[in-house]
Amino acid sequence: MEKAIEEGKPPNSSWKKFIPWQDISEEQWYDWRWQIKNMIRKPEQLVKILPLPRKEFEDICRVSDSYPMLISPYYFSLIDLENPNDPIRKQSFPSIEELEDLAYAVEDPLDEEEDQSVPGLTHRYPDRVLLTLTNFCTTYCRHCTRKRIHGKSKGTLSSYCLDSVLDYLQKHEEIRDIVVSGGDPLALPNRILEKILKGLQDISHLEMIRIGTRVPVTLPMRLYDQDLLSLLENFENLWVNTHFNHPREITIEAVQAVRNLLKLGIPVNNQTVLLNGINDSVEIMRELMLSLLKIRVRPYYLFHCDPSKGVSHFRTSVWKGMEIIEGLRGHISGLGVPTYVIDAPRGGGKIPLMPNYVLSYSEDAIVLRNYEGMIVKYYPKGKPKDRIFHHNNYIGIIKLLEEDADALIPSETPRLKRRENNKSNYKK
Ligand SMILES: *Cc1c(COP(=O)(O)O)cnc(C)c1O
Repeated sequence: MEKAIEEGKPPNSSWKKFIPWQDISEEQWYDWRWQIKNMIRKPEQLVKILPLPRKEFEDICRVSDSYPMLISPYYFSLIDLENPNDPIRKQSFPSIEELEDLAYAVEDPLDEEEDQSVPGLTHRYPDRVLLTLTNFCTTYCRHCTRKRIHGKSKGTLSSYCLDSVLDYLQKHEEIRDIVVSGGDPLALPNRILEKILKGLQDISHLEMIRIGTRVPVTLPMRLYDQDLLSLLENFENLWVNTHFNHPREITIEAVQAVRNLLKLGIPVNNQTVLLNGINDSVEIMRELMLSLLKIRVRPYYLFHCDPSKGVSHFRTSVWKGMEIIEGLRGHISGLGVPTYVIDAPRGGGKIPLMPNYVLSYSEDAIVLRNYEGMIVKYYPKGKPKDRIFHHNNYIGIIKLLEEDADALIPSETPRLKRRENNKSNYKK
């Protein structure tokens, strides 16, 4: 087997601190097949690796009857055992709160099944579709929007279904983009994935194929598989959307997985879900987005957590999301600012939300504010030539609109201080 980690620091064999994995070699650990075979599914298995208080064990048993548990050994090994609120633990351990749902939570809040034109294919937008191929995953995220499908074998796309999906796509020439999701498409065996991608490639009006996968986060060694990489290399219009939620998930192993995709020329974008107690702070989100940019992953969406059954305890206010965008826009590279979206009920689709940057308007002018709190007037079509100012006793925003004033500028911003320095240095 080729060396799992080609570059970067050597792995620190952190799994060896868990008794059942003491004798697992580097070769085994970095073999995705070993990882899949040794997935943690049963509470009895979990306590052999990590002893738990009786009450927590009983809760996990109860919850996993309704919402099954699945954790890859790799993802599990990232947990900080000293921290009961560890973000990786919270995303993967069943919690009793999953059974204490708010009354309005539903199984399929986005009406994905209502909008299916053929089984597995949600056709909602004019030119793009969502294919939910499989229920297999490489870890069940406790906050999953499709929690309803966890542990169900029904719904995995049979070859019969694939034919009807391909047939539908062939007949609908307006469809130019397909999101292949699940479950996790990269959890499928190579030969099935190949069959699906080839089928899609043969549809000439499909201009792009996006794979939605959490493999770089929960099972990065899957992307060390040369056969899989050679397979993906055959498709020129592939994109990958992945799902990092916390900077701690960006490990050497994950970076290697991402790098293997980028080497094939596959752009990698990220979708984060805003999660109570996990990443609901400006500081964590800033670190996450900056760390993603460093590894050339472009933050695409920040999702407000959907009202799916069993995930209510992860939901936050919308104001929290706005606060995060406020803390990003202008403060870090624009490339690092995702679009904050609510996926609307009744199949309404994704709706962007943003703090207000437009404060007021008049016929000729618009009043904006920037990230520093500066309030500035802007003439979209240029300043009207023969403008007569009737009054000069306005106060407030209307003064900006109606008089010759042009901005209200907070003093003492770093930028203004730099300006002062520039003046004294160069323009004496
Ligand atoms: C998110 C989504 C898409 C893709 O939407 P983009 O905004 O283009 O990323 C397509 N179909 C469905 C049903 C979706 O939920």
